[in-house]
Order: sequence, then C-alpha cells, then structure tokens
Amino acid sequence: MSADPHCIFCKIVAGQIPAKKVYEDEDILAFHDIHPWAPVHILIIPKLHIASMVDAGLQHQALLGKMMAVSPQLMRELGVTNGYRHVMNTGADGRQEVPHVHLHVMGGPRPWLKG
Ligand code: AMP
Ligand code: ZN
Repeated sequence: MSADPHCIFCKIVAGQIPAKKVYEDEDILAFHDIHPWAPVHILIIPKLHIASMVDAGLQHQALLGKMMAVSPQLMRELGVTNGYRHVMNTGADGRQEVPHVHLHVMGGPRPWLKG
C-alpha cells in the first residue's frame, strides 16, 4: 500500500494536515515533532506507507538509508552542533504510537529524558 487514508503521517505527506516541514524530496519528508522531547526534535518519514519496521525489508534499503543519511544535513541546518540521538520505535513493545515508520532525531541537551 503506498498510502493509508487513515494514517496521520500519510495525511501529512498528502498535505491534508499541516506540519512544520524541514525537508522534502520525492521519497521522504522531515518535520518537527508536535510534542518535542528535546530542544530540536524532528521526524523523518518515508512517503511510502510502511506501518512499522516489522514490515520493512531489503527492498526498502535505499529509502531507509536515505532517512538516516539526510539527518546530519538537517541537524546542521537546525543549528544542532553538539550531537543528537536517532530513535525508532517498533510495535507494541517498542512503544510505537504512530503506525507509519518514522525516525526520531533529537538534539540539544539531554534528549533522552523521554523515550
Ligand atoms: P512513536 O511513539 O515513535 O510512534 O512516536 C510518534 C511521534 O509522533 C510522537 O513523538 C508524537 O509527538 C509525534 N506526532 C504525532 N502526531 C504528530 C503530528 N501531527 N505532527 C507531528 N508529530 C506528530
Ligand atoms: Zn502512512
């Protein structure tokens, strides 16, 4: 499935609900988390609806690699100079709340207070 009409992140991709976007290309989108855990907290998502990492495979190698590889550029542009954390929550035990793959990138002091 390329998009799920009930998925909140697919709706952001489609422009049906607003987001504070920081990056977009044909494959991925990055925007600020609505409830940040850190001074800078962005989510990087594939435009393709993949519900969780449970559903990902080698066919998604380039897409998932791009999400990771774009993150240093975005954090530099957002003024984060002292490091950051990447987090991906998967499934029930991973405490995943939004069922569309997303990479949290959190910068600034003590981004691990939650999560
Ligand atoms: P997770 O537990 O990894 O599924 O986290 C989902 C994240 O999505 C949380 O940090 C939420 O604050 C964030 N979130 C949910 N809805 C939105 C939204 N409409 N715009 C931006 N971030 C959102
Ligand atoms: Zn989706």
